[in-house]
Amino acid sequence: MSIEQQHALPSYLRPDHLGPWGIYLQQVDRVAPYLAPRLQRWIETLKRPKRALIVDVPIHLDNGTVKHFEGYRVQHNTSRGPGKGGLRFHQDVTLSEVMALAAWMSIKNAAVNVPYGGAKGGVRVDPRQLSLSELERMTRRYTSEINVIIGPNSDIPAPDVNTNEQVMAWMMDTYSMNLGHSSTGVVTGKPVSLGGSLGRREATGRGVYVIACEAARQINVEVEGARIAVQGFGNVGSTAARLFVEGGAKLVTVQDHTGTVMNLGGLDVTALSKHVLDTGGVSGFAGGEKIPDADFWSIETEFLIPAALEGQLTELNAPKIRTQIVVEGANGPTTPEADDILRENGILVIPDVVANAGGVTVSYFEWVQDFSSFFWSEDEINLRLDRVMREAFAGVWQVSQEKRVSVRTAAFIVACTRILTARDMRGLYP
Ligand code: GLU
Repeated sequence: MSIEQQHALPSYLRPDHLGPWGIYLQQVDRVAPYLAPRLQRWIETLKRPKRALIVDVPIHLDNGTVKHFEGYRVQHNTSRGPGKGGLRFHQDVTLSEVMALAAWMSIKNAAVNVPYGGAKGGVRVDPRQLSLSELERMTRRYTSEINVIIGPNSDIPAPDVNTNEQVMAWMMDTYSMNLGHSSTGVVTGKPVSLGGSLGRREATGRGVYVIACEAARQINVEVEGARIAVQGFGNVGSTAARLFVEGGAKLVTVQDHTGTVMNLGGLDVTALSKHVLDTGGVSGFAGGEKIPDADFWSIETEFLIPAALEGQLTELNAPKIRTQIVVEGANGPTTPEADDILRENGILVIPDVVANAGGVTVSYFEWVQDFSSFFWSEDEINLRLDRVMREAFAGVWQVSQEKRVSVRTAAFIVACTRILTARDMRGLYP
């Protein structure tokens, strides 16, 4: 790649850039000066994952050949409880990315005060290239390989990009078969028929909506009549979009890996969801016009919801963004350079570690229900979810106002203080 070509790329994608783990380290550096002197000495703890496992995942393809995939499970921190975080299947998964995602889980779980550390898993695979039975074999072999470090008391996987209830059911079954009896609490995001929780599937998108409403209230933005842009129309993006529309907002544009559609009069969420289910993406949706992907960022809205992958809002597109509030449904969608530009332009960014914490919050409810074998109603779950999210937002917002820092730095202050206080109280073994 020539130097010119490299410089045309957002810094996040340049070979000389630090990558997601480097971004996370920068975020920790930004928070360090705000931590109490007693906790400063533990800061190095946050800069190293506790444990990282790389596994080889060989499977028989349907055509009889053998194919190997590389998989990871990283436990970033377990000071506050067992590792917790999703599993993603994606062709671009790397160890550095999974390390960053695990670290963001530590911060997220502490920010919303669920009693977990942070972990994440990934397999470098394009699941669309596998048949259902190949996917099952891959999931089961991966689960067996990471069996040595997961468990209901040690590390609890859940869905993430390209994994779902079915994948969790295979993981739970594989772990249970190795153990000799059923262990439902080893993963969350399971089917309801298998110890899953009501409301878990919608929880992340619901949390995004609840937090967006709280943030809007603080800066006097009305949800009713607001214009929404959503990037990524998977579980998180589509649920958040539906709730916004039910709340009186207008979904004006959606972008995913297949293209970008726009309808300034409002896209029909139900019809779009059906189209995505039938065709695999938003492209070709008759209820909107196709626009160039680059134009997505400059459409004027009140809320922009990145709900796809990391590194989407960069120093290249951030100056063009015309919205009031960015609500991060994805993990790590905004680079530090873009964060600074958005802040200078008066755009409020509600960070992933608060905005998308609804998923892991209901995962926590699922895990508690599995342990007690007593299941709650959907209303009870949503009520408790809303309360956890609102309280977490209020605490973080207050810190951001008091210390005059971004909401992201405030969330890191709250979370790192909780993690390092636990570290300090526990002391070092031996
Ligand atoms: N993958 C989701 C996240 O990034 C959920 C994790 C969980 O429920 O453990 O927050």
